[in-house]
Amino acid sequence: DRLISAQGNNDEERQDRAIRPKRLQDYVGQVELRQQMEIFIQAARSRSEALDHVLIFGPPGLGKTTLANIVAAEMNVNLRQTSGPVLDKAGDLAALLTNLQAHDVLFIDEIHRLSPMVEEVLYPAMEDYQIDIIIGEGPAARSIKLDLPPFTLIGATTRAGLLTSPLRDRFGIVQRLEFYSAEELASIVVRSARMLNIIMDSGGADEIARRSRGTPRIANRLLRRVRDFAEVKGDGKVTRQIAEQALVMLKIDDQGFDSLDRKLLLAMINHFQGGPVGLDTLAAVISEERGTVEDVLEPYLLQQGFLMRTPRGRMVTAKAYQYFGLQPPAAPPV
Ligand code: ADP
Repeated sequence: DRLISAQGNNDEERQDRAIRPKRLQDYVGQVELRQQMEIFIQAARSRSEALDHVLIFGPPGLGKTTLANIVAAEMNVNLRQTSGPVLDKAGDLAALLTNLQAHDVLFIDEIHRLSPMVEEVLYPAMEDYQIDIIIGEGPAARSIKLDLPPFTLIGATTRAGLLTSPLRDRFGIVQRLEFYSAEELASIVVRSARMLNIIMDSGGADEIARRSRGTPRIANRLLRRVRDFAEVKGDGKVTRQIAEQALVMLKIDDQGFDSLDRKLLLAMINHFQGGPVGLDTLAAVISEERGTVEDVLEPYLLQQGFLMRTPRGRMVTAKAYQYFGLQPPAAPPV
């Protein structure tokens, strides 16, 4: 079982690399962000400087890694990639930093998970392109300063609020990714289908786009599953009807909600009279991790107006009751 799923994942990653946009002009949506980045990149290039450090935040699958790679490509520099949890020793970060070439991009995913010690090394590196390293041990230990080439740190995180403020303050450019509209997602799947040699009509693209939770990674994944369905149950062409049937089979409804979304909403309605309910309680009731609820499930439900955050906890809205064909409580508590 595990072998099969691991292979599936590798396959997805490999295919993803093939369809991932490489240039800013191919990055769909996020119009303001794209306009800004275009100017910042052009300005840095014409001054022959490294681009200012960039913090990108937004839910998983919205294009943080893609954007980091695009920045490096547009700046015509190398990208080195690591992540907060992997980078657990200050020495590992020092090694990465000292191996950078001028203007290179260092991309740190899940930057909110850096250990405090590693973060300490990052501050002077970001600010002055310098690091302090300790040589030797005990009384003979001494600290020396090393100069680094000017570089660009790109940090990605699911929520800006998770970062310590000294770290956040050291980013000159802060960008927030928004969920994509159905039209934007449709143009992403049309592009992906073309690159994967999938025949699809516009109805098929619409249907997939509408049910992708505003998320390009999900749109591309659904496209691949619908293609499987089209090849086995149809003549290989992705039409609206085929997409609809495939997505019904995958239990993704026309809101784009899957069984986990429904489980969360129903748990709130059935066990907590719609809330308010605390995040930890909610996570325990649906047997998910708190982080999954907060980073993966909630943002889209909030954006779609099915869920509210209140000081006393999460609450479902009347829309959530209506979605299940239920009567909202007569006088919803304010
Ligand atoms: P994140 O790092 O935020 O989790 P990724 O950058 O890995 O997300 O994006 C997931 C996939 O979605 C990418 O492989 C890419 O194919 C697609 N994608 C993301 N953003 C865009 C975009 N703006 N335009 C087109 N495709 C995108």
